[in-house]
Amino acid sequence: MSSEGADGFLLLILSSPSGAGKTTLCNRLRSEFPRLRFSVSHTTRKPRPTEVDGREYHFVDRPTFEQMVRAGAFAEWAEVHGNLYGTTLKEIEVARQTSDGVLFDIDYQGARQIKAHLPEAIGVFVLPPSLAELERRLRGRGTEDEATTVRRLEAAKREIAHYGLFDYVVVNDDVDAAYGRIRGIVLAERCKRRRWALRCEALLSEAKTH
Ligand code: ADP
Ligand code: 5GP
Repeated sequence: MSSEGADGFLLLILSSPSGAGKTTLCNRLRSEFPRLRFSVSHTTRKPRPTEVDGREYHFVDRPTFEQMVRAGAFAEWAEVHGNLYGTTLKEIEVARQTSDGVLFDIDYQGARQIKAHLPEAIGVFVLPPSLAELERRLRGRGTEDEATTVRRLEAAKREIAHYGLFDYVVVNDDVDAAYGRIRGIVLAERCKRRRWALRCEALLSEAKTH
């Protein structure tokens, strides 16, 4: 049994406008908490030069993605910035069998769908300190062409309006400070009483026979 007890599985959603630093923060979580399995989404977006198929994403073409939608393969999916992105049911199932939790890097539409099906999921919304800083980061990353950058900056303003879907908000001003807050959320969530109910009951059963 996992050290958290049978009900200890953590479903952690990280969302943010593009460029706010969610991937950076996710990567830190992945290295500190290797038993929190990163959910590798499917996407029709083209891979960036540093991305590896099966590591950041499963890269598929649109007909393949649409076929998977028809086959009911996704726990959630959405169109984001003109591409399709989705989390397969299998990805969550494998995490349940092999890990203490699962980490989703998905947008607010995906967060809404995951929370509808799995209400115990915890949502964290990462905010940039300002829209000007968001633009600096997005341009500084240098992964998008001008049209895509403008589209993502426009989308950011609409995305922030969905903060109400989330349980926590973390402003990514200084990256170490922001990571400290996210780490704190993970540690606190792992101590939630409902995750320990079976462990408490087991101790109480033991106490009866002593
Ligand atoms: P997202 O996954 O939300 O699109 P990234 O993690 O790719 O964002 O971050 C966008 C850019 O901003 C990257 O170049 C990253 O190194 C940088 N970055 C992330 N967090 C900070 C921060 N706190 N201060 C300055 N730059 C940051
Ligand atoms: P990017 O193209 O920068 O990797 O991601 C763009 C946006 O798509 C980000 O907000 C990211 O969180 C979101 N995203 C990535 N995977 C998924 C997914 O499986 N489902 C949903 N709904 N959004 C996703």
